[in-house]
Amino acid sequence: MKGAVDLQDRFKREINYLRVSVTDRCNLRCRYCMPADGVALSGCRDVLTLEEIARLVACAAGLGVNKVRLTGGEPLVRKGLVKLVERIREIAGIAEIALTTNGILLSGHAGELKAAGLDRVNISLDTMNPRKFRYITRRGDLDRVREGIGAALAAGLAPVKLNMVVMKGFNDDEVLDFARLTLERPLHVRFVELMPIGESDREGFLPLSLVRERIAGHFGLIPRKNVPGNGPAEYCAIPGAMGSIGFIAAMSHRFCNHCNRLRLTTDGKLRPCLQKEAEVDVMPLLRNGADDGALREAFRRAAAAKPGGHDMELNGWGCQPRKMFQIGG
Ligand code: SAM
Ligand code: SF4
Repeated sequence: MKGAVDLQDRFKREINYLRVSVTDRCNLRCRYCMPADGVALSGCRDVLTLEEIARLVACAAGLGVNKVRLTGGEPLVRKGLVKLVERIREIAGIAEIALTTNGILLSGHAGELKAAGLDRVNISLDTMNPRKFRYITRRGDLDRVREGIGAALAAGLAPVKLNMVVMKGFNDDEVLDFARLTLERPLHVRFVELMPIGESDREGFLPLSLVRERIAGHFGLIPRKNVPGNGPAEYCAIPGAMGSIGFIAAMSHRFCNHCNRLRLTTDGKLRPCLQKEAEVDVMPLLRNGADDGALREAFRRAAAAKPGGHDMELNGWGCQPRKMFQIGG
């Protein structure tokens, strides 16, 4: 469903998608995303309340935003997440609510999230080897994620997508196993290129063209057009498979021309671009009694500040001050 979009940037891109970081806290410490310790987290007062998030989503919906993704940090560690989904579901104009999660806490919540109005879920999973999983997440139990995937399928949070960040020398030997997951279950595996954000390391970068060649050479790949989504993935499928395979090549195949999103950070900043530091701070507006018109104006300013595209390749690795868990990846 696409209503009238009143939010356009300088490049005539229509903004109809809001990614909301509901927390910068996480129950894992993925090596490319967060440091092991010493993480500077927002204080309670600096974090948007659920009411404030719902109000901002309603303002965005008033401008034609019709898709919302809840992310983080790990969104399932935020108290009241189910309530927030219920609140957003009631907002006129919001056609789709999605969640990005590491899956650790998903099995306990998939059913109630679906009942609250969540449409679908993306689960991040970089390896199917329990030892490697514990290594990359520094603490995670792979079985919990497996249970989470099963619970998401059972609850009908479809399409269930799995996001694998491909890292040279760490998990690139598993890409065929991940592709195989799509054969007999309606799972949509997306291979993601490592980006120079957070704690990631240039040595791990692998262009997805190589992953695609390997999968196509082994299974054959055909284009697949009808996978619901809001973003940059390019989809294909193994012939006869129930699920699909997507490629998100932010570095080697920039897709900024079709960017349709704004991000809302945990501490109340509208972020026009994942990579750029420019942000519009809505917290003072919210906390000083601004009316909805002023909040909508802040969304317009954020849209107007969207750059034509990122320049992550120029920026270098490890240079970006705000990390993925702080921005809402
Ligand atoms: N905690 C949730 C999760 O892991 O799904 C949501 C937040 S996490 C920041 C969102 C996504 O960003 C995950 O799929 C993660 O793998 C990805 N990510 C984090 N740092 C990244 C990087 N440097 N390059 C590519 N993807 C990254
Ligand atoms: Fe947490 Fe997600 Fe970052 Fe991993 S990628 S540390 S699960 S926020």
